[in-house]
Amino acid sequence: MGVAYSRVLLKLSGEAFAGNYGYGIDPGFLEYISHQIKEVYDLGVQIAIVIGGGNIFRGFQGEEIGIDRATADYMGMLATVINALALQSALERHTQIPTRVLSAIEMRQVAEPYIRRRAVRHLEKGRVVIFAGGTGNPFFSTDTAGALRAAEINAEVLIKATKVGGIYDKDPKKHPDAVLIKEISYLEVINRGLQVMDHTALTLCKENQIPVIVLNISEKGNLKKAILGENIGSIVKG
Ligand code: UDP
Repeated sequence: MGVAYSRVLLKLSGEAFAGNYGYGIDPGFLEYISHQIKEVYDLGVQIAIVIGGGNIFRGFQGEEIGIDRATADYMGMLATVINALALQSALERHTQIPTRVLSAIEMRQVAEPYIRRRAVRHLEKGRVVIFAGGTGNPFFSTDTAGALRAAEINAEVLIKATKVGGIYDKDPKKHPDAVLIKEISYLEVINRGLQVMDHTALTLCKENQIPVIVLNISEKGNLKKAILGENIGSIVKG
């Protein structure tokens, strides 16, 4: 079966890394996600991953304890590096897929610096590229880093992995009658105030015409199905 996308950007939130723990890194999740990624890798798809850090530290948490916002945001960016190294290690251990971590914040002993052309070269050589350090700038999110990197490497789609089935008209965790929206435009997401990604991330996707698929990553095989073009979760485009 042919794939619908040959180069994809996968955004994994820090929350996903926490798995069943609520904080930190769940080794069960690492093993699980490694196999989900391998299924897609085996289709010959080029995979780049942007990692969140919310399972360890978020900028606003720092503000709550008196750390200024910019410093707290840098702490959040460092958290994404921790997750990136954990994922790299898990991918190598469970799947033997060659991976490279590229960090937006230079940290030469643990990761390559982010260089766009190098990232693309790694992908062409069949390496999974893990982008760490967000955009490298405070006041942004890792969703925005996902949109930015997707645009930079010409990814055909941004897949946002979540714990819910897609985009709903209201929060499905609070409202059991929430309705899944299968397809929606970027502007409608913004105008209706739906919690998909922040506006900066959405605007970047819109301007570069990168479709965003929101899917439940905890359902086995969803990632592969989406890449094969199955109608999984929700899609933002147009
Ligand atoms: N962050 C930042 N600039 C970026 C990306 C992330 O300052 O380009 C900081 C920000 O403080 C954020 C934290 O890193 O709260 C962790 O990222 P995020 O909350 O986006 O992770 P996720 O929600 O995906 O786990």
